[in-house]
Amino acid sequence: MPINESGYTYCHEHLHIDLSKQKGDDDCKLDQFELISAELKALKTRGVFNIVEVTNKFMGRNPQFIEALTKETQMNILCSTGFYIEGFFPNALKQMSVVDIANTMIHEIDNGIDDSNLRASVIGEIGSSHNVFTDTERKVFEGAAIAHLETGCPISTHTSFSTMAKSQVELLRNMKVNLNNVSIGHCDLRDNFDDILWLLDQGCYVQFDTIGKNDYYPDAKRIAVIDSLIRRGYADRVMLSMDITRKSHLKENGGLGFCYLIDHFVPMLLERGIQQQYIDLMLKHNPANFFGTTQK
Ligand SMILES: [Zn+2]
Repeated sequence: MPINESGYTYCHEHLHIDLSKQKGDDDCKLDQFELISAELKALKTRGVFNIVEVTNKFMGRNPQFIEALTKETQMNILCSTGFYIEGFFPNALKQMSVVDIANTMIHEIDNGIDDSNLRASVIGEIGSSHNVFTDTERKVFEGAAIAHLETGCPISTHTSFSTMAKSQVELLRNMKVNLNNVSIGHCDLRDNFDDILWLLDQGCYVQFDTIGKNDYYPDAKRIAVIDSLIRRGYADRVMLSMDITRKSHLKENGGLGFCYLIDHFVPMLLERGIQQQYIDLMLKHNPANFFGTTQK
């Protein structure tokens, strides 16, 4: 079982990522081992035992860094395979067939990642651009569907500013993917309540995974939406995370740090009147069901 069910899970994070070249900003290279391992140790004392690391190869994934973090902190870290979005693809991807793409993912799931002892157990984060789902992005999703059907690994997506999720779901459904194995990322970056309800009615999981990014969308609204979803009976399909991607997001560098979700956001949910059993669903049981039961 990939998830340690005795603890909480952050469903969408990056522990080593490098998008600095594409973004022209060195802050987008998250690689400070000491600071990150200290934050993971602090998370463990708060009952967070699992991190779903959704960095794939061309986002600056670093399996040796992850192995060292695991050794140092004993955090259970799930690794991912896939291709991100337009602008972050390797040149070769355009020429690759859907089957080639699927085989790349299957290789990292069955045989391992690069020269490390790690295997991917999640297909992610695979995504669409802002208001556009490009041909190459669609090809990645078709490859992901094949890899999922072959391996059973769940699919975790990226949406740009909470757009194009419907197109992602329609494509995966056409590829015969059972939508219980699909989790839609970044549903919490704009007002899109009707879209979220539609996604839930298809059977998908939805991620409130940019918690604390108040410049994009305020946590007060995230909390109101989560509350409405729970009241409508959808608590078993919601997962939480922070999507930390920059040096400046770390506590020591002046950011919120990984513990913000547990130390500040969860108390705000409780304050709102959301019961602990729902916190446990979103942070513990749902991730265990989603990431832990679809393995071969
Ligand atoms: Zn991400």
